This record gives sequence, C-alpha cells and structure tokens, in this order.
Amino acid sequence: MMSQNTRNIRYLILLLILLAVAGNEMMARLKVASWDQTLQVRIYAINADSRPVTKNYIDGLGTKDFKSIEAFINSEARRYDIDIDAIKVEYAGELLEIPPQPPLLGSVLENIFWSLRFRAWAWYWGMTTGNRTADVNLFVNYFDLETTPALHHSVGLRGGLIGLINAFADNAYRGSNNVVIAHELMHTFGASDKYDASNQPIFPDGYADAYQDPLYPQKRAEIMGGRIPLSPTQLRMPESLSDVAVGVFSAAEMHWPIN
Ligand SMILES: [Zn+2]
Repeated sequence: MMSQNTRNIRYLILLLILLAVAGNEMMARLKVASWDQTLQVRIYAINADSRPVTKNYIDGLGTKDFKSIEAFINSEARRYDIDIDAIKVEYAGELLEIPPQPPLLGSVLENIFWSLRFRAWAWYWGMTTGNRTADVNLFVNYFDLETTPALHHSVGLRGGLIGLINAFADNAYRGSNNVVIAHELMHTFGASDKYDASNQPIFPDGYADAYQDPLYPQKRAEIMGGRIPLSPTQLRMPESLSDVAVGVFSAAEMHWPIN
C-alpha cells in the first residue's frame, strides 16, 4: 500500500508538471496572438495501424507534401494584412512513440482528462527529446484506407499548441488530409468550429464568402465551416486547400487584423 507521504509527493510532482505546462502554454499563446514573427509548425507522422501500406506511404512523405498548408495560411494571412510569412511548415519524419489517443465516445470529463494527458505528454516528450524548438507540433496518425475506410475526428488544442490528426495513407487523399491538418492548426491558433451537429456550415460564420450575392453556390469552404454550401441543402467536401478560405470570423478569433 502507498504511504500517505508517497501519495503527497506524487501529487506534488503532478502539480509541478501541470504548472510548468501552464506556464509554457501561456508564453506560447502570447507569441501566437501577436503574429509578428513566423511561427514554426512541425508535423510528425505516425503509423497508426502498423500496416505495410501505411509504412510505405510515410516513407515517401517529405516537407513538400505539406507545403500547401504553409502556402494557404501565408496567403490568407496576407489577405488580412499580416505582412510577414505567418507560418513555416516542416515535416519532421516518423514518430515511433504514439501519443495518448482521445476517447472514442468520451464524456466531457473524459475529453478534458485526455486533453490534459495529451498536453502533459507533448510537454514531456518535447523536454526529453529536445523537440521544443517548434511553436506548434502536429501529430498525424496515418491509416491504410483498406482496413480503415472511415476516420475518427481529429483534434487541435489551443492549450499546448498541439494537434492529433487522423489521415489516410493514400495519395488520392493528400489534398483533403491537408485541409484537415490546416483546420486543426487553425484550432491551435484559436479559431473555433463553424458547423452544426449535422455538419452544415453555420451562416454567416462558416461561409467563405458570406456577403456574396447571390449567396449560392459558394465557391469555397470556410476552413472552420468545413464544407462548400452549393445551395441551402447541398454541400460539397473541399478536395484540397484551393477550395478553402479563411473567413472574417475565424480571422478575428486568431487575432488577424480585420479592416
Ligand atoms: Zn474542428
């Protein structure tokens, strides 16, 4: 049985870790909100199903495969008068360690607990591996399409500036994988979801061109709205980031200048 002293020491250590994580996160958040220097975004790939197809796909990945995320965010940020490159994306290769995975149908409390665990994991992982130089770290779980035809939701956390993304290990999905990665990256910068429980983009926040006349069809999806509204009842999934824009509501949440 654990003595009272041992238990107290364990609580103290846990408390110190949480305080260190919180302090670290506060500094990172201040840096992100100012947009006066280029933020370094690092992407790690994870072979989430240990399949050979997934391994082959990951072995073929390079920074160039994620460049469209950098190009998209930088050009959208310039449209909002940020006159430096907002981000720089770098692919950091395969990660053999697997981060804590979110509960599949978790309660609010379970989700909060997972988010704390994931943040503590990322902080500790950064400390012990020396991978602390990037501002944002994104971990992408890749799956073989043949055995995983549908993906669970991805998560981007503002606290900790980290994301856990589920993606297909398939060239045909490279464009839509990058849409999901950019969406979760925007969450880490403070943008919120702009679609309802039936995946319908919310008007006007979740529309790329909310003041277009006529309103339909929209040409692009708003990055946090998720889909392209073609009519009040028809939606289309964006195939790549060229089908996507950052709307004023998301821009404002990320502290991009709105004129
Ligand atoms: Zn989201």
